[in-house]
Amino acid sequence: MLRASAEDAEALAQALRDVKEKITLCEICFNLAEGPRCAICLDERRDASVICVVEEPGDVIPVERTHEYRGRYHVLGGALSPIDGVEPEDLKIAQLFARVVSPDEGEVREVILATNPTTTGEATALHLAAGLHERAPEVAVTRLASGLPVGGDLEYADEVTLGRAFSGRRAL
Ligand SMILES: [Zn+2]
Repeated sequence: MLRASAEDAEALAQALRDVKEKITLCEICFNLAEGPRCAICLDERRDASVICVVEEPGDVIPVERTHEYRGRYHVLGGALSPIDGVEPEDLKIAQLFARVVSPDEGEVREVILATNPTTTGEATALHLAAGLHERAPEVAVTRLASGLPVGGDLEYADEVTLGRAFSGRRAL
């Protein structure tokens, strides 16, 4: 950085200012966006009847990489953690309930809770599931099956992963 020319340093500073100015949060799903809506909400081929709920904008990327998912997202902006002072009103939870109860485009059939498989992520998923069942009992609420890594050995799996792999087992 110290060896860079004044022009290069100025160009980098301008690029950072541009990012800060241009990148906002999508008004629908709170993913990162260049403009009022993100690329996924603007894409009409994406299925608006399924919403995948994640904690942070960065969590959208690995789900997109699987190419398995063609629905929309909802980014909470974190996970519930009363110890750290993160309460439901600190996250985009009311906005999620509003999207499901009175959707702008077509009905929502399913909400996939893809919060992290951590204590706070699990607590958030339980809170959301209860709120959704209460407000929209006809909407399916699902949680990602979390299982053992492919190529992994049971011996090395932690008990939370193995426990969830058991409870998420399906008939063959
Ligand atoms: Zn969006």
